Amino acid sequence: MAKPLVAFYWCASCGGCEEAVVDLAEDILKVVDAVEFRLWPVAMDFKYKDVEVMPDKSIAVSFINGAIRNSEQEHIAKLLRQKSQLIVAFGACAHLGGIPGLANIANRKEIFETAYKNTPSTVNPNSVYPKTVTETPFGKLTLPEFYDTVKTLDQTIDVDYYLPGCAPPPNLIIDAVMAILSGNLPAKGSVLTVDKALCDTCVRNKSKPDKLVIKDIKRISHVIADPEKCFLAEGIICLGPATRGGCGERCINANMPCRGCFGPTKEVKDMGAKFLSSLASIIDVSDEKEMEKMAESILDPIGLFYMYTLPSSILKRKQGV
Ligand code: SF4
Ligand code: SF4
Repeated sequence: MAKPLVAFYWCASCGGCEEAVVDLAEDILKVVDAVEFRLWPVAMDFKYKDVEVMPDKSIAVSFINGAIRNSEQEHIAKLLRQKSQLIVAFGACAHLGGIPGLANIANRKEIFETAYKNTPSTVNPNSVYPKTVTETPFGKLTLPEFYDTVKTLDQTIDVDYYLPGCAPPPNLIIDAVMAILSGNLPAKGSVLTVDKALCDTCVRNKSKPDKLVIKDIKRISHVIADPEKCFLAEGIICLGPATRGGCGERCINANMPCRGCFGPTKEVKDMGAKFLSSLASIIDVSDEKEMEKMAESILDPIGLFYMYTLPSSILKRKQGV
């Protein structure tokens, strides 16, 4: 019997999601046995034109990681949508925008000026920036258009399922692949893990006092966190109350607070706002000055509260740039 055809594609991301596939270890043999790859640029030499000539919906499932940052990524995401029965947003960047989505605090002009002119190691006296078309004596050279705004995958194409995480844990990947192959799938639009907050399954939850209050905020890099205690109870920001569980508490087990890569649970629209409201309810300061001091101790609020979710949040991007 013919095996189902599968594609993997990589948009704006660090490549960690591709590593996560390799992290399947011997389980990758189950996947290789069960499917036939038709596009996987990081591992195999298929060309875009190989996909373009395929009949519509002939690919059983395409796993797309990374946010949409440029016109090539948008084009291939749309092509894969046309050729695939199912699209899975694979990992935090495709799902929520991820770390590349933090670029939405600037626009293309600012990013180009920083990257190609203002960095101390750059010499660019003529302000030469990447162009979509460059005429050369040998012909036209083209580059994809770099967009002003980073988008999530579902802000670009219709997405069937989401595999969360930076990167998705191997057990969730293999469960998702097997569920897809057996047709045993939840409702369209589901995030393929549990729908409860990380705090609900965190072993440190029981160390939280009945009335949790914090008087100051400490940075994880400035303290040695007690490996038995809830980070929030120690005054260290941990996004567990606003984050969907299912990762196996990977960071907590390494004595690092959660930064929210699994995104919010179903009911939460804006994860940063949700966490801020949880934080506001446990802060114990007596006057405005103390409050200001506490707020100032959070050096990068957007980077902390929206580390993985800015493009999918209500804010989406810095306005007016
Ligand atoms: S806030 Fe963090 S450390 Fe505390 S219970 Fe929740 S996930 Fe665990
Ligand atoms: S603890 Fe938080 S940041 Fe770490 S893997 Fe889990 S969801 Fe992601």
